[in-house]
Amino acid sequence: MIIYLIFHSNALNIIPKRYKDLNLSKLDEYFAQARGYQDDNQTVRALPMKKWFNTNYHYIVPEFSKETKIEITGKKIIKEIDEANELGINSKAVLIGPYTLLKLSRFIDGAKPEEFINDLVSAYKNLLSEIKDKNVTRIQIDEPALSFDLTESDKSIFNQIYDDLLNNHKNIILQTYFGDIRDIYQDVIKKPFAGVGLDFNEGQYNYELIKKYWFPEDKELYAGVINGKNIWINNYEKTINNLKSLPENIDIIFNTSCSLLHVPYSSRNENVLDADVKQHLSFAIEKLDELNDLDQIFNHNNQSSLKNNQKLFKEIKHPENDNVRDRISNLSGKDYTRLPVRSEREAIQKDKFKLPLLPTTTIGSFPQTNDVRVNRRKFKNNQITQDEYDNFNKKKIERIIKIQEELDLDVLVHGEYERNDMVEYFGEKLDGFIFTQNGWVQSYGTRGVKPPLIWGDVSRNEPITLDSSVYANNLTKKLVKGMLTGPVTIFNWSFPREDIKREETVSQISLALQDEVLDLEANGIKIIQIDEPALRENLPLRKTDWFSKYLDWAIPAFRLVHSKVQPDTQIHTHMCYSEFGDILNAIDDLDADVISFEASRADFTLINQLIEDKFETEVGPGVYDIHSPRIPTEKEIEQLIEKLVSKLPTGKIWINPDCGLKTRSEEESFESLRNIVDATKKVRSELHGN
Ligand code: GLN
Ligand code: ZN
Repeated sequence: MIIYLIFHSNALNIIPKRYKDLNLSKLDEYFAQARGYQDDNQTVRALPMKKWFNTNYHYIVPEFSKETKIEITGKKIIKEIDEANELGINSKAVLIGPYTLLKLSRFIDGAKPEEFINDLVSAYKNLLSEIKDKNVTRIQIDEPALSFDLTESDKSIFNQIYDDLLNNHKNIILQTYFGDIRDIYQDVIKKPFAGVGLDFNEGQYNYELIKKYWFPEDKELYAGVINGKNIWINNYEKTINNLKSLPENIDIIFNTSCSLLHVPYSSRNENVLDADVKQHLSFAIEKLDELNDLDQIFNHNNQSSLKNNQKLFKEIKHPENDNVRDRISNLSGKDYTRLPVRSEREAIQKDKFKLPLLPTTTIGSFPQTNDVRVNRRKFKNNQITQDEYDNFNKKKIERIIKIQEELDLDVLVHGEYERNDMVEYFGEKLDGFIFTQNGWVQSYGTRGVKPPLIWGDVSRNEPITLDSSVYANNLTKKLVKGMLTGPVTIFNWSFPREDIKREETVSQISLALQDEVLDLEANGIKIIQIDEPALRENLPLRKTDWFSKYLDWAIPAFRLVHSKVQPDTQIHTHMCYSEFGDILNAIDDLDADVISFEASRADFTLINQLIEDKFETEVGPGVYDIHSPRIPTEKEIEQLIEKLVSKLPTGKIWINPDCGLKTRSEEESFESLRNIVDATKKVRSELHGN
């Protein structure tokens, strides 16, 4: 049972007043928080949405203020336990812990997390005693936020909560995931939890903690050895050896490293993949069998599944490409350095492009209307030819170029009609990637993604986006941006192979994209956007690991893609969620000329940080929240732009909506864009008037 954070915080009455004041039904109030609300009289923006730790799953950020009054107003979890009982299932109850709830929430109006501890603990106590009376095997409290760096004050909040909460409860498991819990481990094992869940996948250091500080024999160790974030079978021999290195007499219960929300349901119905690949697949359902196998091998001395597993790993063969491997071994510093420096390029580009102040553009995609999907489906099902498919998309490009010209946007895009998904599309054109039929994973709400699988060395055999970009470029006098997905995002949103280092796979992707960038440039595309929406989300949870374990290879991977272009080719990048205030220098280090990012839900908090950190890259903070069906008024956008202009150097500002227009209707998109362009023109003329 997963309790999403927003359900849970709503059940505890953590609902900002502005939503309560709408006087809606509970369900509508819930939707208003998630999607925003608009009627003839009132407009309320949605709560911000963030990535769930280092995953591609999203959560809605609960908000605490001085007015927040915690009490139990919803009984979702109780109802779910009752339902399980009625079905004769003796279940484990799972709920998000108070520490993580506090850590992931936003505190406004000077409210502080500490002020809510008592009320929160007494609400949890009530909830726990109600659950205790039900027929549950264990109560699992998830505290993934213990994998972050913990300050002294964090530790004291944790201790305060659990010293109070655990009274009278004998069957509570503390479940952690997405990393090790080195900052709090010693406190955790002293507390009367019935069991503790540790992640042995991303939290390899948890093995060291146990060896160093011991694990009490009276507790169960929920050993998260099966990777909950990738889809390959586990190497049993390695896993068993790791566990054998732990002290004896630990009561080990086999577990996945995290929730199975992050992998697809079952590989049972994958019928098109080669047999050698298929036998290595393990989706959620198959992982349950693996848990059972490991338990049999380790706890019951039943070795039968071990032999088969050893054989699979002995025989595994990933397709290799010598040419790509040679290119990588010949790379040197200059392959990662773009010249001249950014400020010189900025002058050259301004002179050449002659764009107006506050140039307007979009992030790339336009609505994927039903006819676009139908066309793609027909092509996939062999009902139309390649030509028919391409011609349909060309008509779409013609139409959207015209519409953008009429809207009077400054830098146009071709609309990305040929793309099902920004990663899957590139994967399909690159060697080394393979695809499932049903491997869907939830991203947010009803939105899902179907990540490609990286099975072999990655290489590009022919241009990918060239035709559509050049076609669009030839239809207009305005500038048209070429549109690529960056190497780190392609990697992070795929299920990667595990036999070579991730740095190696990412370099292979970068080289393929470098060829694409140079082809676009050679064919007259003057602005190229390389999207990296997933760069931030995979940042290690611990700050000390940010560079050494991630940015030190992720940033060069991006630079490798574009460092060879001419000074007058403008490189854009794009990121989702304005959550990268803490890595602004690293973002500047990507050495792009312009970055657009999603900003409108987060109240522009990033803007101040841009100034503090003397951010150099030109910026386009999104002025229209596309996750909400609400159309922003011209006035509203004008005010946002004025705010930007009052804070940032005018010459460095771009005006664009947030990303994801493809998920909205055309009506909503066009009307919003019209308001954006008109608002920009107003501000421009004010600026010129001054
Ligand atoms: N260019 C992509 C689009 O507009 C970017 C998507 C994203 O940021 N997730 O769809
Ligand atoms: Zn985005």
